[in-house]
Amino acid sequence: MPSVYIKTYGCQMNERDSEAVAAQLVAKGYALAKSEAAADVVLLNTCSVRDLAEQKAINKMKNLVGTARSEKRDQIVGFMGCMAQSRGQELIDKLPDVDLVLGTQKFHRAAEYLDELLAGGRRTKIVDIAAEARSEATIREHLLNGSAKTSVSAFVSIMQGCNQHCTFCIVPSTRGEERSRTIDDIVAECRELVSRGVREITLLGQIVTSFGKRDYPLLDGKSGFVQLLDAVHEIEGLERIRFTSPHPKGYGDDLVDAYARLPKLCESAHIPLQSGSDRILKLMHRGYTREKFLAIVEKLRRAKPGIGITTDIIVGFPGETGEDFELTLSLCREVQFDNAYIFKYSQRRDTPAAGMPDQVPLEIREERNERLLHLVNEIAARKYDAFIGRQVEILVEGPSKKNAARYTGRTRCNRIVLFDGSARHQGQLMDVKIERTGSFTLYGDPAVVNL
Ligand code: SAM
Repeated sequence: MPSVYIKTYGCQMNERDSEAVAAQLVAKGYALAKSEAAADVVLLNTCSVRDLAEQKAINKMKNLVGTARSEKRDQIVGFMGCMAQSRGQELIDKLPDVDLVLGTQKFHRAAEYLDELLAGGRRTKIVDIAAEARSEATIREHLLNGSAKTSVSAFVSIMQGCNQHCTFCIVPSTRGEERSRTIDDIVAECRELVSRGVREITLLGQIVTSFGKRDYPLLDGKSGFVQLLDAVHEIEGLERIRFTSPHPKGYGDDLVDAYARLPKLCESAHIPLQSGSDRILKLMHRGYTREKFLAIVEKLRRAKPGIGITTDIIVGFPGETGEDFELTLSLCREVQFDNAYIFKYSQRRDTPAAGMPDQVPLEIREERNERLLHLVNEIAARKYDAFIGRQVEILVEGPSKKNAARYTGRTRCNRIVLFDGSARHQGQLMDVKIERTGSFTLYGDPAVVNL
């Protein structure tokens, strides 16, 4: 039985794609290796969003093939995912030991190609990055017997691709046009997961709020995405629904109303802002203004007080002046995000922003990154401290990775809570009282409220 090891770079969609590929391979008779060195096949599932992620995967591959060669191991190695899609054959030209390059619409072909490579004794090379109709419906297998966490909480891919064409972003070229699965197909997958013990589902896509735009016309003022939320909400035994990532433009009244209407929809929202300056938002082709973004936050907080709001921000987009950056800082002070992922702008091939004038020097991007991080962390810490003494509902995911005597759960607003628990707590919804905070963690005491 050949064994495979998959290493994933990048976002939750990539994690999900890797899980589906692993599950498909297991179904075809492959075993999952515990380490790269012990594997017959190593696949790197890559990310292209920033140059750093690409360089990491390329260096990893160089190390892998170097070690395999020095230890005289005959290992099949391959790239899959976003960088495989954008670079294709070029990866093999650069690294001739690579056997397989598998694009983002071809994950489901991994087993077939690996069988071929294993049978051929590595004499062939396979590059497949072509588009494939209905490939969005092929990311559906799960590895629920993997970690304890995944059997309580699962990710479900609802669509592939992105039509937004933000000027900084490579995703439309690595993931293709938006293609949505059907609501029936997604609900069937969610039902199956719930029947196997899953209690929380996170719906995944590059821009989930665009789900079903072509296939599901507005129904009673509800977009395709909100129709999907309604359908998933009907599933008995499912306790919590989350989604990521949306686009600010997708927060119409129907979605805001869904937060108020659907009790299983958790009060947390990751809304990528990117910049607080209207001038930069326009150059980014984001399709909203600072004022509109603030209005969305206000509507959401009115519908669900206490909602956790997180965001993505890019610093040093071409042409970003000190004044533009100050506007991002002031917006963060105004919104008081619960957390923010900050990215230094990275020039991506064939994107409009890569050719824009006034590229911001690295020192300035780094300096802005530091300043913004400092502000975001200061606000986040204050927000965490405000939980001390409060009682919150958590869904217990399993033992903590760092300390098996501690259990970990998540609040509805998506904060991690650690507490002294045991196996009987796993998968339970329970109330804990928050006693103290750590770095992006709350520490709770279940005994106080669960007699
Ligand atoms: N749904 C998201 C949105 O509305 O923009 C897109 C998710 S994207 C894959 C994750 C994040 O990576 C983006 O929100 C953005 O902040 C960051 N990102 C994308 N392209 C980037 C680039 N060229 N340089 C730096 N950060 C980038």
